[in-house]
Amino acid sequence: MQRHDLLRSETEVDLARQIRSIAGQVRELAAQLDAMRDLGARMGQARELYALLFSAGVHQVEASPRAGGYGLGFGPRLVLFEELARADAGSAMALLSTANGAARAEAAANAMIRQRILGPCLSDTTGRFLLSVPGTEPDRGSDAMNFVYDRSLSTRARAVSGGYEVTGEKWMLNNCGTAAAYLVAVQLEGQQGFAGRAYAFIEAGSDGVSTAPVEKRGLRTAFQGRLQLNRVRVPKPLLLKGPRLSKAALREQTSVAVASHVLELGALSCGVAQAALDVTRAHVETRVQGGKRLIEHQAVALRLAEVAQALGAARALTREGAQLADAQALGLAAAARARAAAVEASRLACARGLDLVGSPGVLESHPLSKLSRDADTLSVPVASSDLLRLLGALNEHEPFTD
Ligand SMILES: Cc1cc2nc3c(=O)[nH]c(=O)nc-3n(C[C@H](O)[C@H](O)[C@H](O)COP(=O)(O)OP(=O)(O)OC[C@H]3O[C@@H](n4cnc5c(N)ncnc54)[C@H](O)[C@@H]3O)c2cc1C
Repeated sequence: MQRHDLLRSETEVDLARQIRSIAGQVRELAAQLDAMRDLGARMGQARELYALLFSAGVHQVEASPRAGGYGLGFGPRLVLFEELARADAGSAMALLSTANGAARAEAAANAMIRQRILGPCLSDTTGRFLLSVPGTEPDRGSDAMNFVYDRSLSTRARAVSGGYEVTGEKWMLNNCGTAAAYLVAVQLEGQQGFAGRAYAFIEAGSDGVSTAPVEKRGLRTAFQGRLQLNRVRVPKPLLLKGPRLSKAALREQTSVAVASHVLELGALSCGVAQAALDVTRAHVETRVQGGKRLIEHQAVALRLAEVAQALGAARALTREGAQLADAQALGLAAAARARAAAVEASRLACARGLDLVGSPGVLESHPLSKLSRDADTLSVPVASSDLLRLLGALNEHEPFTD
């Protein structure tokens, strides 16, 4: 496969079709990994799956063509990540963090970041240059992104000669232990709240960096865990401070950034819902009980229609969010609506799937087992639906009916 060939598509339908051309391979590799009980062995083997996705250019979709990416619009990106999550939500999540990280690295517009982080990441085809964006801390879960409460982080950056020294602990970051570089949210010493936050670009092999991945019930092809930073030296150009903004402008900027990521996660949940629907439909179209195929029993067809309706509504809300994002008008209320609908659709699809598939569906080896665990695990990152709804409602710059 030639770099830039697979994802050079004219339309969203075309793009989805291109992703489907590698979906079978992704699904198969992911199912093998999901079944592996040893975390360390699974992390090692995941490289093959990541290499496949890097070779397809999935990590390059957000960065601009000038930097070596595709610069896809928000709508096409959502289509792509939904389609990938339909094959495997864990690796879609790992690649999403990397694509987001690469876009942040590009936005930094700084030669050292380009040379040490952005360039090596975008040119990688081996799946080794994953990126991670740690914000959450053991004591700062929702508070790490709750810009209304405006809390300070406990991971600190202290100015020292030639740069900064970063000390602290991050928790549940994506690509923990598999990333080549971490874009760590830090609190500048002596400064409070969101206005005093900055991003430190830290290479995985730097002195003072250690990781401890944890085992999770779902998304087992992505790795989360603890990142310990003990007096890590960060050269001045690798620490990015945000522009000096008024409190209102900062809140607006943070709201937009959180909303975009929330919407991307909604697309992943839509992919899981679609996968559960696919698996269930395939079963009821062939299994015969009561003298006919299950799908021919009205009660069964109605359950499938109910799931398709919930998924259609969730997908429509994520597409509406994408249109708002492309028009620079996406707010948290719209993103939270879409994500909540997508999470609920994915859980409904898995629950109804189990109802209709019956005993094969409870086997560990059945695809519905992995999909149910992935659907649940996807409801947590960034924030729960309730907190997002609250933040959307509390954000005074965003009308309820955007
Ligand atoms: C698969 C996965 C990947 C992740 N990847 C990343 C990553 O790449 N980077 C990163 O930084 N983090 C990541 N996280 C962490 C994630 O962002 C946090 O789990 C999330 O912010 C919630 O924090 P918490 O789990 O500590 O829950 P808590 O903040 O303790 O919240 C627990 C519950 O209380 C509710 N709650 C909290 N505050 C309020 C409030 N003010 N008002 C009302 N209700 C409230 C929440 O909605 C939730 O229901 C990931 C998590 C998972 C599961």
